[in-house]
Amino acid sequence: MRIAMISEHASPLAVLGEEDAGGQNTHVAELAAALVGEGHDVRVYTRRDSPALPDTVPTAEGYRVCHVPAGPALRVPKDELLPHMGEFGRWLAGQWRDGDWTPDVAHAHFWMSGLATLHAGRRTGVPVVLTYHALGAVKRRHQGHRDTSPPGRIGYERALGRAADRVIVQCQDEIGELVRLGVPRSRMALVPSGVNQEMFRPDGPAVPRDPARPRIITVGRMVERKGFQDVVRALPAVPDAECAVVGGPPAELLPADGFARRLGTLAESCGVADRVKLVGAVPREEMGRWYRSADILVAAPWYEPFGLTPLEAMACGVPVIGSNVGGIADTVVHGLTGDLVPPRDPRALGTAIRRLLADKVRRFAYATAALDRIRSRYSWKRCAEQLGAVYAAVSTVGRPASAVA
Ligand code: UDP
Repeated sequence: MRIAMISEHASPLAVLGEEDAGGQNTHVAELAAALVGEGHDVRVYTRRDSPALPDTVPTAEGYRVCHVPAGPALRVPKDELLPHMGEFGRWLAGQWRDGDWTPDVAHAHFWMSGLATLHAGRRTGVPVVLTYHALGAVKRRHQGHRDTSPPGRIGYERALGRAADRVIVQCQDEIGELVRLGVPRSRMALVPSGVNQEMFRPDGPAVPRDPARPRIITVGRMVERKGFQDVVRALPAVPDAECAVVGGPPAELLPADGFARRLGTLAESCGVADRVKLVGAVPREEMGRWYRSADILVAAPWYEPFGLTPLEAMACGVPVIGSNVGGIADTVVHGLTGDLVPPRDPRALGTAIRRLLADKVRRFAYATAALDRIRSRYSWKRCAEQLGAVYAAVSTVGRPASAVA
């Protein structure tokens, strides 16, 4: 099957850990590779954000990345990309109508990609599948007036959910959010993301650490909602443990980064500055070494549409303490593969970390059960098979372009 994946701001070729580059980039890259592994012909369309990029880039995994000219060939924050989605959609429609490759199905990632893809799909008869990855209503609830999403996002997301042929949801929480938004449950298919089990495995090298000290690790983009502040505030209740914070700008740019500086000041005021180590962005290939160096991964976001880092840690055999939110509430089984704590509650987090660090037997049991869960439920192959079935179901509808224009 010919599959187009549209990921307007999140290129599978991007460097991760920076403000707008995180789980979606990884998801799109690994899903594309897994679909190729299932025998599909896959192209990923992402916005050209540098004049130096070639029109198309073949990847070692077998899919092609096409750079779409829409808006300036510069890095533009994702919250400023909406005005360029019309151009993105027209370009896709032109390619699929007049070019030499028309997909059987187009899978859009994030709501803005959904707008461009629906525009193109309507004009070419290509069915459209949508994964939101994150929802404006949730972001608004948590960030209030600090939410920089374009006005109208929530309305667009509602309309997209009703217009797309299928909506892929990644966790139970997302189903509830979309039902409240007015998206029909019958349009949704629950297909959780996979995790790369070659890259994230229990055996393999680990970055050096102080053997005399327990180590916790927390990973993600340096944005407030990832809850790094809550992890720092929890540390005084966890005697002796060091905490590696992985993500954000590259290490050499950390001193100039406002968020990193605020985190450093907070660590000082909590009396734990000597135990908090800001690592900065780590290349994805090295993430396994970081997870394996830790006794526990702490994922303390305020909300989390899915959350790849708990899955990656579980795949490395590292027990997880996570906020009981979004996808983490599905991936971590409380008391069996890890512990769930309320979000934004440093006291509860500190207690959970202290208890788990003091209990080696429980850490071992969690790690074993977590690995089992990853292998049986979160392989990319399983994800690609399930999506393949969704794609087949929508593309056999076979509507001629004229019927849907
Ligand atoms: N990541 C990375 N280097 C870093 C920080 C993060 O490669 O320095 C990766 C991490 O391994 C994971 C992704 O970025 O694959 C973050 O995904 P998640 O779903 O946890 O968060 P998001 O960024 O989508 O909010």
